Amino acid sequence: MTARLIDGAAVAARIRAEVAAQVEQMAAGHNVRPGLATVLVGDDTASHAYVRMKHKACQELGIASFQHDLPADATQEQVEDLVAELNADPRVHGILVQLPLPKHLDEEAILNKVSIEKDVDGFGPVNIGRLAMKGRDPLFIPCTPHGVMVLLEEAGVTFEGANAVVLGRSNIVGMPAALLLVERNATVTICHSRTKDLAAVCRQADILVAAVGRAEMVRADWVKPGAVVIDVGTNRVDDPSAKRGYRLVGDVAFDEVKEVAGAITPVPGGVGPMTIAMLMKNTLRGAELTLPALHEA
Ligand code: NDP
Repeated sequence: MTARLIDGAAVAARIRAEVAAQVEQMAAGHNVRPGLATVLVGDDTASHAYVRMKHKACQELGIASFQHDLPADATQEQVEDLVAELNADPRVHGILVQLPLPKHLDEEAILNKVSIEKDVDGFGPVNIGRLAMKGRDPLFIPCTPHGVMVLLEEAGVTFEGANAVVLGRSNIVGMPAALLLVERNATVTICHSRTKDLAAVCRQADILVAAVGRAEMVRADWVKPGAVVIDVGTNRVDDPSAKRGYRLVGDVAFDEVKEVAGAITPVPGGVGPMTIAMLMKNTLRGAELTLPALHEA
């Protein structure tokens, strides 16, 4: 059996086009242009690349973007003051604090400072708290897990009563993905580094979400025939034949798992493009929240 490919790049492109159209409608109808501010502290190369991609996406979609780069030795007060300034800036509808922050900074205290109405990453305690509570809705759903859910919907998954296994329990991917699956009435098992017999647990899954950061850990014999597999992992492996000397692989051994699964996301081109698309959607939502009619609704 060969699994159906879930094309994250195509889905992300469609969402981006929808957001771009809505941005122009908002600008024309309400004279409001959604705006995203990024806060980046330090010189981490990967973080700089991610922030660049986010600004480029804003540009392509007609979203205003404001880039704030602070030196690696920025103080807690400097970062918190900047967040306070952005909270008060009416041109800014979303604030993205690029993680990880340098070790000397208190990440939790900084994320706590981001106004809930501008928490487009959805990592603030109020948004995560609402996500975890029955019958409450967060203002913003964290981007990568939200992308995972959209891809599962694309794959035509029936969530209700499905056995879902999430590999990984991080604040930014595994845990919120598990909460979103529970909200859709799946029966969810969350696995982590102390889980016993991972392969046997994974084999129970109708829906398998892998977010561990271990190259090709999930093998074909971990997967129930016909399961839908979403691979969040983005791992660099050395590849002298590649132009950059490495290639990206997921947490799932794609070539063998695709022979067992019913549907599967590739890496790259699966969850990756969805994260930025959902960030753009959240920024639009942040701007929508400032429109009087929607705010009252
Ligand atoms: P973290 O390192 O924060 O979390 C990894 C999780 O996996 C932890 O819960 C850890 O368990 C668990 N884990 C690690 N090793 C094992 C193992 N051998 N067996 C079982 N569980 C294990 O990673 P993130 O959640 O931030 O990211 C996960 C992956 O997703 C990475 O490859 C990352 O690059 C990718 N990613 C991709 C994004 C995208 O846009 N496509 C966005 C964000 C992340 P424990 O809690 O016990 O330590």
